[in-house]
Amino acid sequence: MAVWVSSRKKSLIFISLGACLVALAIALNVSWIVLHWRQVALLTLGIIFFVAIITGLVLNTIFLVREIRRNEQHDSFINAVTHELKTPLTTIRLYLETLKTREVDEAKRHEFYDVMLADSDRLLHTVEQILRAGQTGQRRRRLQRSVIDIEELVRECIDLARRRYHLDGDALSYTESFNGSERVTIMGDQDEMQAALSNLLDNAIKYSDKTVQVSVEVETPDEKHVAVRVTDHGIGIPRAQLKRIFKRFYRVPERILTQVKGSGLGLFIVRSIVEKHGGRAFAESEGEGKGSTFTIELPRA
Ligand code: ADP
Repeated sequence: MAVWVSSRKKSLIFISLGACLVALAIALNVSWIVLHWRQVALLTLGIIFFVAIITGLVLNTIFLVREIRRNEQHDSFINAVTHELKTPLTTIRLYLETLKTREVDEAKRHEFYDVMLADSDRLLHTVEQILRAGQTGQRRRRLQRSVIDIEELVRECIDLARRRYHLDGDALSYTESFNGSERVTIMGDQDEMQAALSNLLDNAIKYSDKTVQVSVEVETPDEKHVAVRVTDHGIGIPRAQLKRIFKRFYRVPERILTQVKGSGLGLFIVRSIVEKHGGRAFAESEGEGKGSTFTIELPRA
């Protein structure tokens, strides 16, 4: 947090410095033009230099601010990922040490195995997210396209999430608002689409308060598109953050120190995958504490 605040300060200093320099250059040049307006050749040269200096200053300021933002993002990503890697490893090590040094009864041993398995799943998930973010970030990467039945895909992802988070049937519901006998398909990469939907479901569950109540709806807004909507009744998203949360490494700043951990890569992966399939992804929320809805819209096959 302190790093974030000081970087913010730094970018403000650079923006103010840039603005002051631009103002100074304008004042100097305008007074120079007023004093030498008769000397046309010099005047033309002066104007060219003037434009060059101003452009240079503006570009320099933009570049510096971008670099500072990038550093900010890298810092928060490293903090989040280090935590996501270290915590499960520490737990696994602790349980292994206990199993090695002490007599543990059968029931306790099974409990330890379950915790270690859950933690190794968490580790694997973090590593997969980092690898996928790297892959989806590459523009030239080819998709393994095939015809995907969207209803089948959504049901598979829901089952997976139910098993992963040990949820009962009511916690995650599925509805479709198109003719049930109709087959709604898209042309896409099965693995990537599954990752995108699973990320949305993971978030909906992760950011639900105590009771998880998530609904997934598939609809066909027109003949050429299909929309998948994931709605939760969780902690919601402030209006100003609705667009930013899709940026790489971005996490809502006020929540970084809360219990819900993450790397800030999930929604970046969702948007990259959906855009590569020619679709769009967006978030809606009435505000903090009022739940959120994430929609992905894709062209039909
Ligand atoms: P991570 O969950 O790893 O932090 P994401 O890219 O998946 O990263 O999400 C970015 C941020 O968006 C999260 O830190 C969280 O604050 C917010 N967010 C995402 N999904 C939801 C949701 N369903 N409800 C509330 N906030 C959400």
